[in-house]
Amino acid sequence: MASPEVADVAVIGGGPAGLAAAAEAKAAGAGRVIMIERDERVGGILNQQVHDGFGTKVFKEALTGPEYSAIYEDRVNDRDVETWLKTTVTQLTKDRVLTVRSQKGIQTIEAGSVVLAMGCRERTRGAIGTPGTRPAGVFTAGAVQYYMNVSNLAVGRKVVILGSGDIGLIMARRLTLEGAEVVCVAEILPQPSGIAANLVRCLEDFGIPLYLSTTVVEIHGKERVTGITLAEVGPKMGEKKGTRRYIECDTLLLSVGLIPETELAVDLSLSTNPITNGAIVDDSFRTSVPGIFSCGNVLQVHDVVDYATLEAEKTGAAAATWAMTGVLPEPTINITAGAGLRYALPAKISGEAAVDFTMRPWKEEHGKAVVFRSGGEVLRRLKMPHMEPAGMIRVRVGQGRFGHVVDNEITVSVEVAE
Ligand SMILES: Cc1cc2nc3c(=O)[nH]c(=O)nc-3n(C[C@H](O)[C@H](O)[C@H](O)COP(=O)(O)OP(=O)(O)OC[C@H]3O[C@@H](n4cnc5c(N)ncnc54)[C@H](O)[C@@H]3O)c2cc1C
Repeated sequence: MASPEVADVAVIGGGPAGLAAAAEAKAAGAGRVIMIERDERVGGILNQQVHDGFGTKVFKEALTGPEYSAIYEDRVNDRDVETWLKTTVTQLTKDRVLTVRSQKGIQTIEAGSVVLAMGCRERTRGAIGTPGTRPAGVFTAGAVQYYMNVSNLAVGRKVVILGSGDIGLIMARRLTLEGAEVVCVAEILPQPSGIAANLVRCLEDFGIPLYLSTTVVEIHGKERVTGITLAEVGPKMGEKKGTRRYIECDTLLLSVGLIPETELAVDLSLSTNPITNGAIVDDSFRTSVPGIFSCGNVLQVHDVVDYATLEAEKTGAAAATWAMTGVLPEPTINITAGAGLRYALPAKISGEAAVDFTMRPWKEEHGKAVVFRSGGEVLRRLKMPHMEPAGMIRVRVGQGRFGHVVDNEITVSVEVAE
């Protein structure tokens, strides 16, 4: 094996998070930055997202996925980041040695700091245990998106979608526009998982029915899907007797959640958050292993790419500072997600700079506020007319507010708005 390459910052993944982190690491003073991407081009999942709606926060315009990622690809190239394409990181050690595989063979990189930006993957049929035979015609939403938008291939004519998250909803519209019949969307939860706006513009506008508290209990067909059986579920997700109905279709599209791509980090024994399944990080996006940082969808699933980018820019800058100086502000203040919130990120902060907190509520709320308290006193209160689990909340808390923190503890909760 060739002698190891040495980099100040190694970024794993060339999606929007990796691109932004690598560009910003360079801007923050890192010498050699290597970004490793297993695909033949950068851009990650954005390459297959031809709908618009990307960039509305950062650029104040609605770009397509490829248009958005091209801006950051240019930045990476302008700033002389080394991009290693068709190269997969297969191993990462706690002392930041990466093993990578490509057509050149196996190489190692010794990095001053490492940014994990591997995105997430889709849950498959196996992950949710759908019963029935194993015919062709069962796809994940991302696979269908790739076939349609990148390879220009149709996957089927009569489609049932399982899962009402934004991905499932967007695919319902896309399949309809491409001439397929989307018979219905089934959702196991009693409420939709996607944002309200997508329910209107992707289902209601096209007359596609949404069946809540409903799931697929059987897939029919030998060579190819010929139909599926849906059934209603009770509060404990058990099938309700007498509610089965057969639906003829040739395709079942699964849009049943995303899982952070964390296999590489398993050997690192990173502290992780059981809700996000991503690493626990501080406000420099440092994980529990020194010199290893995390951002983008591998850290928490983002519904808006702009927030993934902003998070990644901070991560890249912090990774560069750590690699070049070995010093970052020490996180001394603990953040706890209180009533009404599934999680709040980061989990620890230094209090030496403003922090953009991200969080998700457990359920849809109206007329409430996100409130940061320490020692019972309010540090920051932000009214939120509408909150829903599908929409990530992002709240900036200015550095001045942290001067009032008691016992290094802050709790953030959903409260009645005053
Ligand atoms: C269907 C869908 C619709 C969306 N619609 C919108 C929208 O309308 N507007 C919006 O703002 N946002 C949207 N988003 C969200 C946005 O796409 C994500 O927030 C963003 O792509 C996350 O970027 P990322 O870089 O973390 O992950 P990714 O884009 O997944 O990139 C991760 C990259 O890491 C690479 N990688 C992984 N492991 C390795 C390894 N071991 N070695 C080398 N490379 C590796 C992968 O190949 C990939 O290129 C949507 C997301 C989905 C799934």
